Amino acid sequence: MKYVLVTGGVVSGLGKGVTASSIGVVLKACGLRVTSIKIDPYLNTDAGTMSPFEHGEVFVLDDGGEVDLDLGNYERFLDVTLTRDNNITTGKIFQSVLEKERKGDYLGKTVQVVPHITDAIKNWIESVSVIPVDGKDGPADVCVIELGGTVGDIESMPFIEALRQLFFSVGQDNFCLVHVSLIPVLGVVGEQKTKPTQHSVRELRALGLTPHFLACRSSEPLLDSAKQKLSQFCHVPVCNILNIHDVPNIWHIPLLLRSQNAHDAILKHLNLLSVAKSPNLQ
Ligand code: ADP
Repeated sequence: MKYVLVTGGVVSGLGKGVTASSIGVVLKACGLRVTSIKIDPYLNTDAGTMSPFEHGEVFVLDDGGEVDLDLGNYERFLDVTLTRDNNITTGKIFQSVLEKERKGDYLGKTVQVVPHITDAIKNWIESVSVIPVDGKDGPADVCVIELGGTVGDIESMPFIEALRQLFFSVGQDNFCLVHVSLIPVLGVVGEQKTKPTQHSVRELRALGLTPHFLACRSSEPLLDSAKQKLSQFCHVPVCNILNIHDVPNIWHIPLLLRSQNAHDAILKHLNLLSVAKSPNLQ
């Protein structure tokens, strides 16, 4: 299984969900089978009890699972049918660990965030990523994982640690990290500012994860000078810095990614170029 992890930095609501779904679309257009997992680091077991005013509409899956509306994006973009287990929350992970603890499954051990919660997260990801969601037999080629929230949040720490361990165990060829970040323009200066992204990449690196790709959200297309600066300070090659500027309709984003050859760069990173075909995004 190949994993594409999408994290977010600087602020929430940047478009991680849309970016992750769009990456899935371009990979699918290259002939790969794609599944997805959304991680929500809140303590609610699922989105069913959360106010739609605060959280957006609850999306109801075919199996009755009440989940984050990003799962709706994944189903529509990728033409898949996800299960409630494709949405991981802190609540679900803690519930499963505490149930095991009450049954005595830990055989007297002290139950801790590391390794028990992080192991539960890794096992959940590894077992759900192989469930076929596109009506075909056998596991998908690529699992796109979106980590909700912003890097550095206290509540996402166990997930970051579990994903760091997952990266270490599956290796560089099987794991690609795309960090979605904001490039603001200061009104008075009129310049695209890279510093917030530099800080959030530094935060990610301090937690043991280095981004392979940056997906930069900006109001206007990213200038070459900003790309150079990001590359230099964030240790990401210029060709892996993707620009996802504001578009009138989110269905433009897969096309935006294709126009920047994001599929080639991701496939190359995941060592999948030989099995993929050129993208058909009709
Ligand atoms: P996150 O997962 O980071 O919270 P979402 O993917 O839910 O963010 O996106 C937040 C909002 O921003 C959505 O309404 C989405 O349609 C919009 N959006 C995301 N990317 C873009 C873009 N490139 N241009 C315009 N709107 C976007």
